[in-house]
Amino acid sequence: MSESDARKGPKIIAVANQKGGVGKTTTAINLATALAVEGLKILIVDIDPQGNASTGLGVGAEQRDKTTFDLLLREAEPRDVFLPTGVERLMISPATTDLSSADLEIADNNRRSLLLRDALHQPQVESFGFDYILIDCPPSLNLLTVNAMVAAHSVLVPLQAEFFALEGLSQLMLTVRDLRQGANPELRIEGIVLTMSDARNRLSQQVENDARAYLGDLVFETVIPRNVRLSEAPSFALPILDYDPKSKGAEAYRALAKEVLKSKVAVA
Ligand code: ADP
Ligand code: MG
Repeated sequence: MSESDARKGPKIIAVANQKGGVGKTTTAINLATALAVEGLKILIVDIDPQGNASTGLGVGAEQRDKTTFDLLLREAEPRDVFLPTGVERLMISPATTDLSSADLEIADNNRRSLLLRDALHQPQVESFGFDYILIDCPPSLNLLTVNAMVAAHSVLVPLQAEFFALEGLSQLMLTVRDLRQGANPELRIEGIVLTMSDARNRLSQQVENDARAYLGDLVFETVIPRNVRLSEAPSFALPILDYDPKSKGAEAYRALAKEVLKSKVAVA
């Protein structure tokens, strides 16, 4: 029996790294698009107050009437929060700066780490029939990121090929380990994907070699190259697969999607 036969609900993947600017949002948008192109039904949960995933998929601030914040607090129904995007089969739970007060607002709630998991397990979410839910995390290991990691089956970590990249990773791994000993014993590492890699740059090569030496199979074979088309696409509110399907960036995210589809990180 294949993994997808065994799985009941969607597979939930948190795209996380407490560093900003490492390619989380770019990975969430473009991996989600590549999976949708494969025929799967995908939801991106934008849980970063910056709302970059929402903007990058063409969901303007004026459309974000109900957001992930309302979903967390159960102040809106999933069907009133989730919005279609320009990509077929890809929906988004949008974010606004509202979410920046979430840490404070939920701090006294005794289920404060479990709110997203609870929200995503509502029958109404299940009725959408998503195959994957990707959560685009903020650049911090705050309560929002913890909510994402508690709701998730696995964590996918974009790692920018630069000096100190691996130091930041150990902090993230400790958080994952804590959650495995607590709120989410089944939490796995989906994989670490090297981003913004420049094949001609010795430092990029060094980070990749070190990552593969220390982390072995946890590192995806696919490496996302530094590609200017990837950085241009959000300003046209398009994923790379629509903006420039022949670019190196598009090619890389298609390959990453294939690896994620083959994932042995099963869902219990
Ligand atoms: P994060 O969500 O981790 O903060 P982003 O995905 O927003 O990071 O990426 C940070 C910036 O780098 C953005 O301007 C984005 O367009 C750009 N970027 C991301 N990945 C690449 C890449 N592979 N090549 C070139 N630019 C990239
Ligand atoms: Mg981001």
